[in-house]
Amino acid sequence: MASEMSLQHYKKPLVCTYSGGKDSDVMLELFKRSGIQFEVHHSHTTADAPPTVYHIRKVFRELELIGIKCDIDYHIQSNGKAITMWNLIPVQGIPTRLCRFCCKYLKESGGRDRMVATGVRWAESSKRADTRDTYESVNRNPQNRIRISDEKMLLTDNDDTRRFIEHCQMKAKTVVNPIIDWKDSDVYDFYWNECPSHNPLYKMGYTRVGCIGCPMASKTRWKEFADFPKYKAAYIRAFEKMLEIRTQKGLKHKWKNAQEVFLWWMEDKNVPGQMEMEFMDGDVVVGRQE
Ligand code: SF4
Repeated sequence: MASEMSLQHYKKPLVCTYSGGKDSDVMLELFKRSGIQFEVHHSHTTADAPPTVYHIRKVFRELELIGIKCDIDYHIQSNGKAITMWNLIPVQGIPTRLCRFCCKYLKESGGRDRMVATGVRWAESSKRADTRDTYESVNRNPQNRIRISDEKMLLTDNDDTRRFIEHCQMKAKTVVNPIIDWKDSDVYDFYWNECPSHNPLYKMGYTRVGCIGCPMASKTRWKEFADFPKYKAAYIRAFEKMLEIRTQKGLKHKWKNAQEVFLWWMEDKNVPGQMEMEFMDGDVVVGRQE
């Protein structure tokens, strides 16, 4: 139904958004099996782990060999420079659970005037269960957003359906979430048994694949920075530039240096310079934190 809507109202194939995670691999496999015409789109966040980037490249190469159009959005600005996590932080500040400006710039900017499919699922969070639906019309003003279930979509004389179709005709960004009601176990089952290739991060113990250091990942971030220490260094450099800019502008802040910003961001109660004890082969080693 979404494919027909896309071809009819947008005159273009439905877009399968792809992040390199299990949900998007599952959705992509369903697209391949459905026989519909589609394109695949990935938003380059610049903070994805290297195994995710390699996995995406491999999947896109294989899709292109069978004639499926794949696009990667590198978020190039009018001055020719790319927006990255590392140049956003100095200007925009620190990404947190409550302030996810990075998603707006690095993930949500694509798909204008297209109908796109995402791997959003109700099982991912109670907020998603309350606010998301199978079909959605995206508008900056939350009041003007329309969401509608599969069942309602089939009842064409329904008021919501009529409004939704009108929005679609107005070329708003329209979203379909084909696996919205899949449980985690459904996704894992299909992923491991039916999908042809897998992101290596799942075999490294990750259950979620996304930007390294994403504030939504909470405790997993320690493992991410242990596995990919260059990203920790990149965040600290970006925090350093952020502090320089704040100082130049005369803005007050509570941190002595970028390392402290990093620890605050990681919700670590320790501060640099504090004594720490490590146990190595039965010996106690006392040292200062970095
Ligand atoms: S770090 Fe998290 S919030 Fe920021 S772009 Fe990545 S996924 Fe979105």
